[in-house]
Amino acid sequence: MKGMVLKEISTIEEQPLELKDLPDPTPGPGEILVKVSVCGICHTELDEIEGRLLPNLPIVLGHQVVGRIVGLGQGAKRFKLGDRVGIAWIHSACGTCDFCKEGHENLCPAFKGTGCDAPGGYAPYTVVGERFAYLIPDRFSDSQAAPLLCAGAIGYRDLMLSGIKRGQTLGLYGFGASAHLVIQMAIYRGCEVFVFTRSEAHRALAIKLGAAWAGRPEDPPPRKLHCAIDFTPVGETVPKALNVLEKGGKLILAVIRKRNPIPPLDYSQHLWDEKEIKSVANLTRKDAEDFLLLAAQIPIIPEVQEFDLPEANHALLLLKQGKIQGSGVLKISDSN
Ligand SMILES: [Zn+2]
Ligand SMILES: [Zn+2]
Repeated sequence: MKGMVLKEISTIEEQPLELKDLPDPTPGPGEILVKVSVCGICHTELDEIEGRLLPNLPIVLGHQVVGRIVGLGQGAKRFKLGDRVGIAWIHSACGTCDFCKEGHENLCPAFKGTGCDAPGGYAPYTVVGERFAYLIPDRFSDSQAAPLLCAGAIGYRDLMLSGIKRGQTLGLYGFGASAHLVIQMAIYRGCEVFVFTRSEAHRALAIKLGAAWAGRPEDPPPRKLHCAIDFTPVGETVPKALNVLEKGGKLILAVIRKRNPIPPLDYSQHLWDEKEIKSVANLTRKDAEDFLLLAAQIPIIPEVQEFDLPEANHALLLLKQGKIQGSGVLKISDSN
């Protein structure tokens, strides 16, 4: 099979992903072989390419994988051949450490990321343990389902950890793949949403999706925020968000890595009055399962921009430049 491979750390401007011949994977005990239809693109892949996160090189990236099961490893019996499944960022966790036993498998020291520690979905076939795959609800097309697996499922975890309640105000910093799904959940939960982004196109999409206000990251919102979620890869948004957070408010940091440092915080200005900052690391299988059911129920329909697999470098460059509307998705092979 031919897949897009990252061989060494680089900038995305240098187009480091190469279409290469790869051996067809075979499923081991308890694993499933998935024929990949589509794979979403994510900022975390930029972190891997550019070395802010260290993947197991050479690596096939991609952790928002949708496809059909075409092979079952020894003892795999959770699904049947032909089932349509998704694979998310969590490729495996040990299942026996204290974190795993307490439902925090996202923090497992042996956590493996799809397309980072194990091959992902920028290729026609991939394998994963059957316990780390999810049936895709019928109401979503393959391309619509892909962004639900990271942008949506981790966005769901962000929103749950924010603790926001009905009637409260939520600020979203950055309005890419994850935020455009989180806004749909937040409005469904009866929150008032203010969106902060430099992109005029993203502000227009935010208003279309029901934001009560959209402005630039430095603009004062109409009211203070009970919670804010920062999806941006830059450090400067952190003090900006803390400045407009209500007393006792919580700021969630949703990205794995920031591209540049967070400016110094002033205790009285940014943190006093019981303001909290919490980062969100990875996701659990329960996040993905719960979110897929919720997404089908609301329903949350992602806006997607499709690219062919060999265009992955270009798609990721557009993502870095903030030029993707909604979520970018790579088409890998024909759906069947
Ligand atoms: Zn992701
Ligand atoms: Zn563990």
